[in-house]
Amino acid sequence: MAPDPRVANFLTRNASFTASYTPAPSMADIIKKREPFIVIVCCTDGRGDPRAFFNLQENEAVVQANCGGRVTPDVLRTLHVLDLLSNDGVGTVIVCHHTDCGMINVSDDEMIEIGKKKWGAKKGKVEGMWFGAFEKGKAVRENVKGEMEVVRRDRWLGKRVLGLEVLGFVLDVETGKAEEVKL
Ligand SMILES: [Zn+2]
Repeated sequence: MAPDPRVANFLTRNASFTASYTPAPSMADIIKKREPFIVIVCCTDGRGDPRAFFNLQENEAVVQANCGGRVTPDVLRTLHVLDLLSNDGVGTVIVCHHTDCGMINVSDDEMIEIGKKKWGAKKGKVEGMWFGAFEKGKAVRENVKGEMEVVRRDRWLGKRVLGLEVLGFVLDVETGKAEEVKL
């Protein structure tokens, strides 16, 4: 397959980027920093990108995006790594979902059926796969609360002596407004 021609544009833009690039701090400097990390768990959907709707500044928060904004084992792994490898660890975790998310209008069972057709998977090969779709019809706010609970229940983060702030938001893709979700 020929490379997607859009990638050539990426490289052209990278050339402009490097022209005015200021060298980034080293990892040694990063882990010495004296303020806790803010980590935002969000969806991969570009409409729900907190870098845009919170106008995040460089290095202000770590953005962890996956389909649906699930607190998966790998998201927890990242939280653990950031917590252990920096002076002040992770101070705040924000779960941020958005309205009209693709993961709220499909079920994992339906994804399995799609997989059978699209991948030509033999019976039994995709059954039991976890795609992380939410329960259909469930309010986005409830999904956010569920993922906040996953962070709070984590055996390491949830019982930390220094405490951990866990916040939740829903971004309305029609208005661009982020509203807080309280547990
Ligand atoms: Zn989404």
